Amino acid sequence: MTSVDARLDQLRGSVPPLSYTARTVAALAANPGCSRRAVLDAAGADKAKIAECAGFPQQSGASQSPFALRRGAVFEAEVKSGGGADVIRLLREKAGLPLPEVSHAVLEEVGGSADLELRWRRTRALLLRAARHPDDAGTLYDHPMLRLEIGGHRAYLEPDVIAFQAAGRFHVIEVKSFALIDGQADEESVQAAALQAAVYIIALQDLFAAESVPAGIVSTDAILVTPEDFTPRATAAFLDVRKQIAILRRQLARMARIGILLEGLPPGLTLDLRLGPDGTPGRPRSEIAAALEAIDARYVPRCLKTCELAAFCRDEARAAGAVSVLGAAARDDLGGLDTIGTALALARGTRQPSADQADITWALRHAMSIASALEGGAA
Ligand code: SF4
Repeated sequence: MTSVDARLDQLRGSVPPLSYTARTVAALAANPGCSRRAVLDAAGADKAKIAECAGFPQQSGASQSPFALRRGAVFEAEVKSGGGADVIRLLREKAGLPLPEVSHAVLEEVGGSADLELRWRRTRALLLRAARHPDDAGTLYDHPMLRLEIGGHRAYLEPDVIAFQAAGRFHVIEVKSFALIDGQADEESVQAAALQAAVYIIALQDLFAAESVPAGIVSTDAILVTPEDFTPRATAAFLDVRKQIAILRRQLARMARIGILLEGLPPGLTLDLRLGPDGTPGRPRSEIAAALEAIDARYVPRCLKTCELAAFCRDEARAAGAVSVLGAAARDDLGGLDTIGTALALARGTRQPSADQADITWALRHAMSIASALEGGAA
């Protein structure tokens, strides 16, 4: 065990590390500048439980509702029934992929075993054979098992489907149950699907790179399969996920250098909740909150949808008067000012600006004079 592993174990405490899913890996990219999240994720800490024990239970936005999970499972099963007939039709009709003959390899288990490592080895063997013998192309790999190194830990990931076709490239297919209406879908849902597809594409690229197969064999266009216009009929669209791949690669590299972040933490810091047999923490709330506060955070409103610690971090950022609680646009507009209090003091003239605050101070005072004039007119 390395010193980094030992430090991460100490931070997490007595519980085993949580395993990653494509959803949790994708969420790493939601706030790449946050050290708190990077450290806790690298440690495999249970952020939802920590938030609850610090007095800020997880908000629903950071987890999927049971209804959404059920709806997704039903749609996926329908799309993939009959040997993936619907997916093959879509690949031919919508994606224009030449798939004269298609076989269907289900990789949910190997010889009756669902062991993750065994499934990964089988998946790797089949994908490498297809990559090296493209004449055997035209196979849909259903529920393959991929692997990804995250901060020195091994994560197993299970894409919906990977297709391979005669033009010599692998395509990741994401099956999602949100509807595509008149060719448009909810932007946030599409972005989340693009990030998840990017996670699988990175895992595939790494698998091939380790075997000296050129990375270009994996398409960076994912194929999104969704219901069409509120009907059970499926439709498909290409998603260019190069940007998401770049963001995730940067964040994974940061996780690999987690030792640098750990060096900046107080010696002996731990988020061990010391849970009793009934699940109640053996540490006071204030102590858990203080341990969290010892790791730098970078709260943004988007955290509410992507991180289990959002309520805690929002409260902390509000108490500090951090500009970031106002959202990304306000934070960018107030570039260089950390707190709302500083912005107000500069606008009211109760604080003298430094040389590099001259422009933003002029803009703030101008905005305040307009607001005052409007208020005066309305009175
Ligand atoms: S909620 Fe907190 S820990 Fe999570 S990403 Fe946002 S600032 Fe970081």
